[in-house]
Amino acid sequence: MSFVLVLFAVLGALIGSFANVVIYRLPRRQSIVFPGSRCPRCQHRLGVGDLIPILSWLLLRGRCRYCQAAISARYPLVEMLMAGGFVLLALRWPLESYSATVLPLLALFAMLVILALIDSDEQLLPDSLTLPGTALAVLATLLYAPGSGLPNLSQAVFGASLGAGVIVLINRLGGLALRRFGDTTERLGPIGMDQVNLAALAGVLGGWLWGLGIALVGTLANAVTGRLLRLPEGPLYGLWLLTLTLMTVLGRPLEAISGSLAAAGAVAVLGALYWWLRDWGQPPAPEPPGEEEPIAMGFGDVKLAALLGALLGWQNLLLALFLSFVLGAVGGLLGRALGGGRQIPFGPYLALGGLLALFFGSSLIAWYLGLLGR
Ligand SMILES: [Zn+2]
Repeated sequence: MSFVLVLFAVLGALIGSFANVVIYRLPRRQSIVFPGSRCPRCQHRLGVGDLIPILSWLLLRGRCRYCQAAISARYPLVEMLMAGGFVLLALRWPLESYSATVLPLLALFAMLVILALIDSDEQLLPDSLTLPGTALAVLATLLYAPGSGLPNLSQAVFGASLGAGVIVLINRLGGLALRRFGDTTERLGPIGMDQVNLAALAGVLGGWLWGLGIALVGTLANAVTGRLLRLPEGPLYGLWLLTLTLMTVLGRPLEAISGSLAAAGAVAVLGALYWWLRDWGQPPAPEPPGEEEPIAMGFGDVKLAALLGALLGWQNLLLALFLSFVLGAVGGLLGRALGGGRQIPFGPYLALGGLLALFFGSSLIAWYLGLLGR
């Protein structure tokens, strides 16, 4: 193994150690940098010798040096996973051939691991990771070397919109079915679900930029008039299905569905960004009691899918979503068979599908197209 790869492994292990802190503290709204780490049982401050990634856990045989409390094996496993991932990324996009391409990928890989574990622990995908992660994945395209197989800027923006769109449409249509086609009680202005729905409908007919434009005009109208435009979801998605059928008959089914999904996704991400920035630094609003609607898929998954779309571009994104749904179905069935009654979040499957598509997407798609060509 070359010296550079050893450096990547060490860097990965150190980032893995930091990731363990983030995974624990971020959902608890604790500072990530201060104070230093303590044993959760005896509260003894941990010294440098207790905090060497992987090695400290092995040397202390998984126990606290001061009170002998067991330390979860997940800590060294996350550090090893991060080290291994960094090495794989450095092997796939070597510095000498692709210059700085690998650097943003390291950060995005770390974010995906952190998001998967926070979601699995807390059923939560924090905006403070998904939204900056999406922005980073879009901006990273400016650093990618030619021939890296990664998207360019416009492909990343379209991929992010499409990714968010697939999940937000599952969220809207699934929710509609779960409510037996009754209207949603969600009312958010100036930008909320009504604008997402409007974009989905307009995007069918005019493509994604048209859909986005109509929704932004609607947002502006809400902001100026101070009133909320309400379009009941049942009839709106009835009309959506009708126009989609019409476009299919006219021979343009792919343009219609991709335009609709990307428009809805772009509005969903912009709306999420608006609400995140507006509520910056405020404590989370308490959920109104008894008003929670049944949902088919959470909004955190929408933003995670946007991140994946920006990282992968639309072809590998579709592969990632396909892999996530297959893995999620298998995982759900296994969980049920093993008697786990707990609802398993989808975020870890999305992250895993995304990473598989990042590493193997190009070869899998080439292999599949080769099969079709025969
Ligand atoms: Zn202790």
